[in-house]
Amino acid sequence: MALAAAVALAVSGCSQPAAPPGAQIVVTTNILGDVVRQVLGDQATVTTLMQPGADPHSFDVSAQQAALMGRADLVVSNGLGLEEGLAHHLDRAASAGAPMLVAGDVVDVVPYSAGDAEGSPDPHFWTDPAAMLDVVNAIEGAAGRIEGVDAGKLAANASSYRAELAELDAGMAAAFAALPRERRALVTNHHVFGYLADRFDFRIIGAVIPGGTTLAAPSAADLHQLSGAITSAGVPTIFADSSQPDRLVQVLAKEAGLQVQVSELFTESLTGPDGEAPTYVDMMRTNTQRIVQGLAP
Ligand SMILES: [Zn+2]
Repeated sequence: MALAAAVALAVSGCSQPAAPPGAQIVVTTNILGDVVRQVLGDQATVTTLMQPGADPHSFDVSAQQAALMGRADLVVSNGLGLEEGLAHHLDRAASAGAPMLVAGDVVDVVPYSAGDAEGSPDPHFWTDPAAMLDVVNAIEGAAGRIEGVDAGKLAANASSYRAELAELDAGMAAAFAALPRERRALVTNHHVFGYLADRFDFRIIGAVIPGGTTLAAPSAADLHQLSGAITSAGVPTIFADSSQPDRLVQVLAKEAGLQVQVSELFTESLTGPDGEAPTYVDMMRTNTQRIVQGLAP
């Protein structure tokens, strides 16, 4: 059977390979890719465009992946300006008639509270699991409109994943509540925790990269000012993201008179299956543990 299929493929030469089973769903970020897989289970082939450990602000896709988006039963993207390198491909897929779900359209958007992007919509909604619950509901709705998707299975998967997210949320709330209020202060390499701060009552002291994107650079004066803010807030640990070089965070940590630890988090991307953040829930649990460890008195 396998041999016959291989021969048939070889003979047919340039024809398209057979489509994989189930609904075809293309997802931009690997965080949303995991969430879509949890909700759809084995009812869909989920293609995630962003590689593990990549930077969602700057990754690009191949021509083949772009074509796949246009033919998909559903394209799921983060939106709110996150996928800067992908905007034209998403526009093209939408014009090709692919059903689109933009996660940022279904969450309560929190604007950036500081930095160069202050006031503009923050795309990093996934740092609040309650926002991800809204996205799960929207994925369930959109997947239910795909022909061949079994409604009963879909509802069962979605509700068991909602329960998992509710448990995650409760765990995060309990872990952060154990930190003294004055210790709930965050410094990161770029502004990634606005939603988490809003939800769990943290102050954002600042970010090494002043804008909302990773595609900006701080001046020496910016770094010096941030180091002053860190000292006056008494922040013991600053957080770097694993998907970006931590050079700037290290430069900041060496500012004169600054005594801080640097801890690595998974804020922008999942890891591969052998890493510490292979799923969205794992990523959030690992980060919660490290934030609490880094900021506890
Ligand atoms: Zn980001």
